[in-house]
Amino acid sequence: MSEKVLSIDKTTLDMLDKAKKDGVETAWDRKEALKAPCGFGAAGVCCRNCTMGPCRVSPVPGKGAERGICGATADVIVSRNYARMVAGGTAAHSDHGRSICLDLYHTSPDGDIKVKDEKKLMKVAARFGVKTEGRDIYEIAHELAATGLQDYGRQFGEPCLPPTLPEKRREIWRKLGIYPRAVDREIASVMHASHIGCTADAESMIKIAMRCSLTDGWMGSYMATEFSDIMFGTPKARHTEANLGVLEDNQVNIVLHGHEPTLSEMIVAAAELPEMIELAKSVGADGINLCGMCCTANEATMRHGVKLAGNFMQQELAVVTGAVEALVVDVQCIFPALAKLSESYHTKFITTSPKARIKGSTFIELDEEDRMGSAKKIITEAIMNFKNRDRSKVMIPELKSEAEVGYSVEQILNKLDGVVNSHIGPMQSAKPLADVIVAGVIRGAAGVVGCNNPKNVHDEGHIEVIKGLIKNDIIVVVTGCSAQAAAKHGLLRKEARELAGPGLKKVCELVDIPPVLHMGSCVDISRILELVGTTANHLGVDMSDLPVVGVAPEYMSEKAIAIGTYVVTSGIDTWLGVVPPVTGGPEVVDILTNRIEEWVGAKFFVEPDPHKTVEQIVARVNEKRKKLGI
Ligand code: SF4
Ligand code: SF4
Repeated sequence: MSEKVLSIDKTTLDMLDKAKKDGVETAWDRKEALKAPCGFGAAGVCCRNCTMGPCRVSPVPGKGAERGICGATADVIVSRNYARMVAGGTAAHSDHGRSICLDLYHTSPDGDIKVKDEKKLMKVAARFGVKTEGRDIYEIAHELAATGLQDYGRQFGEPCLPPTLPEKRREIWRKLGIYPRAVDREIASVMHASHIGCTADAESMIKIAMRCSLTDGWMGSYMATEFSDIMFGTPKARHTEANLGVLEDNQVNIVLHGHEPTLSEMIVAAAELPEMIELAKSVGADGINLCGMCCTANEATMRHGVKLAGNFMQQELAVVTGAVEALVVDVQCIFPALAKLSESYHTKFITTSPKARIKGSTFIELDEEDRMGSAKKIITEAIMNFKNRDRSKVMIPELKSEAEVGYSVEQILNKLDGVVNSHIGPMQSAKPLADVIVAGVIRGAAGVVGCNNPKNVHDEGHIEVIKGLIKNDIIVVVTGCSAQAAAKHGLLRKEARELAGPGLKKVCELVDIPPVLHMGSCVDISRILELVGTTANHLGVDMSDLPVVGVAPEYMSEKAIAIGTYVVTSGIDTWLGVVPPVTGGPEVVDILTNRIEEWVGAKFFVEPDPHKTVEQIVARVNEKRKKLGI
């Protein structure tokens, strides 16, 4: 491995040293072993959509092969590949949302999953047109779930999009012909249009991809978040700790990794059962220590304060500590490499979803008929594995940070109520937020989201961007692996106000919040859409008029591409810290970083340098403020 600094997180570096000593490989080693990536793939000009190919065309116009065998140009190939990434990401989030809909459909007062937040149930039911008056809450929940599920396969009429989506935005989408119809339909549309012999026009292909992405942000992810809150509770501000130092020396350490909250909710509930705690004590442990990784961590911490073991690039390092009895996963962002890695330690790598079976793992399906039974079985496996822990291989890093999490939109509005005179009101409104933005006390707002990527120095992009933005009085909300980076580096503490500019610092003191708010997992980016939409509606403007931006400094997944696409299509400028595989298509680059602004009032910026990213965002936010006359 080269001597390049791989992470700004000391814990990560320490564990990478241990991995080297233990003779095990990590994603960083595998990246190194792959040498330079293929230039055709990196530029997006490689196509294998039919067996006349694969074809690879020149990423440099006028030089080398300009067309694939069917005649597809570089721009056509790049736009199709891009659209398929959007479809992949949309499918992942939306299938997550579908599972959550089905869980809601199966809730019952004496079942493993119940309705926890009746108030939210009523609110969401109303938005879907489900009658609530005088009805049993489970009847309402089931009808709501069935109604939501219709929007996955609807063939006629328009889907139910949230009222927070400004009317002006809806009109823009209608005019552009990208108003979303149904989740699965738009995914299928992308796959169809990108088949050989279909769409051969980059502009049309990108518009089909934009329409698809909207079914993620405003439908699949939105439903995933709303319905999860109904079943598992709407997050409230709470305290937690972050980084691999949250593992405990004499407890059964269980790391929950993946995405859907159903698994983590069941495990959290089962781990609190006296019988499970007794069992852990019977094998000589002091108790059970649950920690989370990636978005499962975000879901579990938002609702229960479960500790955050780490983000995407730390998943292998959790095993390398030698202190994890079980790494329990469901779907998405799970390295298959964990199967081989866990053979070198005592860790049981437990997969639970038929959608993500991994060879070499222990498969314990989360039985839909008896979720609690499955959760107990998984925890028992972990407990019985405690005695296999090889103390000579254990190294738990000391480092961990305090963090405040749980900032759902509801929690943010509650906090804002704290600065509203109840005689004047209105309460539960975005007015205080809009007021400070209009007054310029806060310059703007940014959602910093997304993954880690070994192409970047781990966590550096997230931390430098966040610090730079809050210093410039731009309030930051975080989700996904960015949230964990912020948590690990102490930015989710109220004390982090000291790093903020004077306006933001004052606002945070008055409202009693940190300058960086943890809003949840990747599907919870829908919470950010809700907050921005609510603020835009309050001011009577469109989302693209607001001084608000999105940033994904270290993204890697197709889900992140789908997110970036729906965020831009929603009118929010988005900065990418990793170059997407589109550079071989000059027209595609022009569309995404330029022309798309004429369509939706926002565009992509690609900037790997976090400091330049901050400068560009500040300039752009100032521009938007000027246009808005504030
Ligand atoms: S679709 Fe066209 S460019 Fe793609 S592999 Fe087939 S012939 Fe080649
Ligand atoms: S932020 Fe990226 S890496 Fe992290 S859980 Fe979400 S999609 Fe996966």
